[in-house]
Amino acid sequence: MASSLDIGRLLSERVKDIETSGIRRAWALAQTCEDPVDLSIGQPDFPVPDSIKKAAIDAILQDKSGYTQTAGEDVLLQTVYKRLGGQFGWEFGSDTYHGAMITSGTAGALTLACLAVLSPGDEIIVPDPYFVIYPTLARIAEAKAVLCDTYPDFRMTAQRIEQCITDKTKAVLLNSPANPTGVVLTEKEVEEIATLCRDHGILLITDEIYDEFVFPPTTHASPAATNDDVLVIRGYGKTYGCTGWRMGYAAGPKQLLDGMLKLKQQTFVCAPSPLQHGLVGAYDIDLSPLIQRFANRRDMVVDMLSDVTEFAVPQGAFYAFIKVPEHLNMTGIEFITKAVSHDVLAIQGSVFSERDSHFRISYAVADEQLEHGLTILKSLLQ
Ligand code: PMP
Repeated sequence: MASSLDIGRLLSERVKDIETSGIRRAWALAQTCEDPVDLSIGQPDFPVPDSIKKAAIDAILQDKSGYTQTAGEDVLLQTVYKRLGGQFGWEFGSDTYHGAMITSGTAGALTLACLAVLSPGDEIIVPDPYFVIYPTLARIAEAKAVLCDTYPDFRMTAQRIEQCITDKTKAVLLNSPANPTGVVLTEKEVEEIATLCRDHGILLITDEIYDEFVFPPTTHASPAATNDDVLVIRGYGKTYGCTGWRMGYAAGPKQLLDGMLKLKQQTFVCAPSPLQHGLVGAYDIDLSPLIQRFANRRDMVVDMLSDVTEFAVPQGAFYAFIKVPEHLNMTGIEFITKAVSHDVLAIQGSVFSERDSHFRISYAVADEQLEHGLTILKSLLQ
């Protein structure tokens, strides 16, 4: 049926401004492959642990399917309180400084945080390279994402952040372990950032979705351990293989959480109730065999590609951000186009960055697939 409505004219400027052409281009390229080695997806390749599945099923069978409190089901919140109490010494209760809320994914928490803090014209400092939605979240809030250039080692240090601060800066968004680089900041680095933000009266938001994906001897350091005014955002999706459940949480100063709760009450309302029950036992699960498996895959990436190109050795998450060697004289998109013609899918750096000199691979794939994909990439990078 033909429509007479000019929908293009009706779409908001904020929607028109969202840049998805790079992702669409990578996706369109992927369609040209019949049976590709897919190193493009940031999604775990393992199933949800049985105990979590069972708890979610039980909750459905017990009709725990209604709205929950806006902040989340108390049984799940208690596990978050306990965890953060142990890690940061934070206390949670009716008259404590800190509060926490369960969110619809990590992205849901990030969205609420940006909308609660940023007014039109404000600035938020984000790393470059960044997780794709960071600049979009600023745009949705009609604020500006100021990109903090972290090339070539991808460390978002206090020194680099300081150069981006203006009188419009409201917040800094940190991501360690990082997507797309796998870089993990040290305790000293995060402490310096926490101090910098405190000194400038800026909110530090820390996206710690990969907090469990850190490969020994590296350990995860959170700025919340040294600064009470940090907003911590974490997720369950990557850690427990349930990205589609859309579950995460945010914790920080209650006054800030209250602002986020107001927005949540009138938008997302609550995270899926049976799935909140499903994750109550999540922190009892021993993740060490899983982390070891991912560490081995990281080692495979390093062993196979270090000779042919440069990249920061990932110490966490499940990505590597790989430089297209200069002698190839190719951009990221040109390289991944070539890789696709050899049946390997990866994502060009420009999807995550102002530059297009790198590409991202995800090693959340079966070992044989990974080895096969890396063998092809190695030959193309030589
Ligand atoms: N932050 C980072 C750094 C991510 O990589 C992702 C997912 N790829 C998210 C947030 C969003 O996670 P979720 O699916 O829990 O919304």
